[in-house]
Amino acid sequence: MQGGAVLRAGTRSAADGLRTAGRALAAALFPPRCAACGRPGAALCQPCLATATRLPHPQCRQCTRPLTYGDQCARCRLEQRRIEHLYVPYAYTPPILQAVHRFKYANKRYLAADLATLAMSALPSDLQVDVVIPVPLAASRERQRGYNQGQLLAAEVARHLDRPLDGNVLIRLRDTPPQTSLPRARRLDNVRGAFRALRKLSGTRILLVDDVTTTGATLEAATRALRRRGAAWVGALALARTPEERSDVPLSPPDSHL
Ligand SMILES: [Zn+2]
Ligand SMILES: [Zn+2]
Repeated sequence: MQGGAVLRAGTRSAADGLRTAGRALAAALFPPRCAACGRPGAALCQPCLATATRLPHPQCRQCTRPLTYGDQCARCRLEQRRIEHLYVPYAYTPPILQAVHRFKYANKRYLAADLATLAMSALPSDLQVDVVIPVPLAASRERQRGYNQGQLLAAEVARHLDRPLDGNVLIRLRDTPPQTSLPRARRLDNVRGAFRALRKLSGTRILLVDDVTTTGATLEAATRALRRRGAAWVGALALARTPEERSDVPLSPPDSHL
């Protein structure tokens, strides 16, 4: 997928066949193990997954924080967020945190399929999008890690939705300090202008994909870049969100690639 043009995820091309065969081979040689208990079979086994914390509803549709009424929190209204809907099923706590950590830092790329399936449990079944776009890493981070885990997740999501994946239209212009080191009020400023869309997107409905979100500020900045080029609707999907008022998540800093 690296550097590829727009890929029609749903077409059963030779590349698709090879990818499927590759996945099957990898699964046979290195069966995924549960990140929490080590049982072979999946990124998280059913008993461990049952202990994962789902984000409560009702929630703000733009940042997923809990609400008592309505669908937009006061902070998102104040910031005039443009993101239409942020879909996040889980809290970034064990065992989801362990699975993401293995995916991001232990080079377990094949976990992308399982994690994408878990993330997609937050999407409404009638969601209409034209294209799936990963949140780009800062180039230096991608070089360090060798791959963009958001892009791997986004590719799986595109495949499930039978929509094209476009990993080239959105670029990150600069490195930004880690979001977790900043109070929420400054996070939007921190990432403002960090993204640019490289071509017109008039009338397009776009689903952004990232692995973990903290306040949604990065996704909001990416949304604004896409809306500036005419996107009609921008929503985002992430697997997990850091718990409320917590910046000391163990093991791995969320949004550390910012
Ligand atoms: Zn387990
Ligand atoms: Zn909100």
